[in-house]
Amino acid sequence: MDQVKIGKFISERRREAGLTQAQLAEKLGITDRAVSKWETGKSLPDASIMLELCGLLNITVNDLLCGEVVSMENYREKNEKNLVEMVRQKEEADKRLLTMEIVIGLVSMAFFSAMLAIGVVFMTMEKPVWVFFLLVGIGLLQFIVCMSFALRIEQVAGYYECAKCKNRYVPKYGSVSMAMHVGRSHYMKCPVCGKRSWQKKVISKTVEPRV
Ligand SMILES: [Zn+2]
Repeated sequence: MDQVKIGKFISERRREAGLTQAQLAEKLGITDRAVSKWETGKSLPDASIMLELCGLLNITVNDLLCGEVVSMENYREKNEKNLVEMVRQKEEADKRLLTMEIVIGLVSMAFFSAMLAIGVVFMTMEKPVWVFFLLVGIGLLQFIVCMSFALRIEQVAGYYECAKCKNRYVPKYGSVSMAMHVGRSHYMKCPVCGKRSWQKKVISKTVEPRV
């Protein structure tokens, strides 16, 4: 998707609709800075307001994603391309999120170890024992906070696959956080077949065809 082209197209259609950036932003309940960012190609409108935006600009979502009014004869083909592209972009974003999860985990673990090490050093210097517990406490607290954040990332990025029926879905945070897990595999109940199994993390919603 060509963000710059889409941006120019939004700007053009907005003017044709007789709206300023501020007016358009107000109708969508967002900041005019967000509109400006789309129009300069720095970001794309969020999926949640795409339909409303297209309604105001009198275009289809497909037009918006192509950055032009799509003629009827190649409408279907372009539509499919856009859908594939959107799925691909989500998958890439999810992969980045999962990398971030690992980084957060490692940094958090390092911080905890550092706190523990400093605590031990203090103990050898015969400082009061509460200093040790304070440092370890701080380390542990940040570890718990970071881990729940990392788990939240893991929950929303990609899908979990049921080992029994191969259904791929996004479980609720509660079921992910309460489930036993080894790495990213969680022992959870599948909402489709109702069976419990070790569900592994996958990036795509659909099973990739074998090449
Ligand atoms: Zn299942």
